[in-house]
Amino acid sequence: MALRILTVEDEPEMADLIARGLRGEGYVVDVAEDGVHAMALAKDAGYDIAILDVMLPGMSGFELCRWLRRQHEGLAIILLTARDAVDDRVKGLDAGADDYLTKPFEFVELAARLRALRRRDAIGTTRMEIGGLHIDMTRHRIATEQGELSLSRTEFDLLRLLAANVGAVMPRAAILDAIWGSTDYIDPNIVDQYVSYIRRKLDAVGAPVRIATARGVGFQLIEGET
Ligand code: CA
Repeated sequence: MALRILTVEDEPEMADLIARGLRGEGYVVDVAEDGVHAMALAKDAGYDIAILDVMLPGMSGFELCRWLRRQHEGLAIILLTARDAVDDRVKGLDAGADDYLTKPFEFVELAARLRALRRRDAIGTTRMEIGGLHIDMTRHRIATEQGELSLSRTEFDLLRLLAANVGAVMPRAAILDAIWGSTDYIDPNIVDQYVSYIRRKLDAVGAPVRIATARGVGFQLIEGET
């Protein structure tokens, strides 16, 4: 079944370029020109992916991102940010975005990011248990005896990746490649940012695992410690 994408972009030429490109890749695409229209569309249609321009008239892409994340935990959200606006990237990740692209970008880069998002879904089996973490791939949920973790899509994928390699150090570059699918346009510190979010959430439920930092190398999930 074709994946459904909501594109929110107020510049008509840009919106058209993205929509036509995505349709050419086999996606079903709706376009909204602002946050209000996007919210109306998102209420009725079950989107798999949202691509949000940060600079929108009225409600900003960040606000829209937060709203969409509250509505649909499993929605994959990509933000289109201004060039080199590091603050925007951090703000976007805090708002629950899974990935970002800086403008201007090549359509092929957007298409590659989308393929990476889709690949994450295809990896692995449907359920696994690692050191007290119960991971459900189809529902994108991770629970412990103490309760369920409230994870964004990217947090889920990253924790699942670390769990699948429990006890082994995952190099930062391997994490970037597996989760973001590309290292050309992305700040490697995004991995550290996400690890800190996940640590906070593991702590909040008293999960029986922790994520250790292998300095200068990457990260490792360790069982049986809090
Ligand atoms: Ca704009």
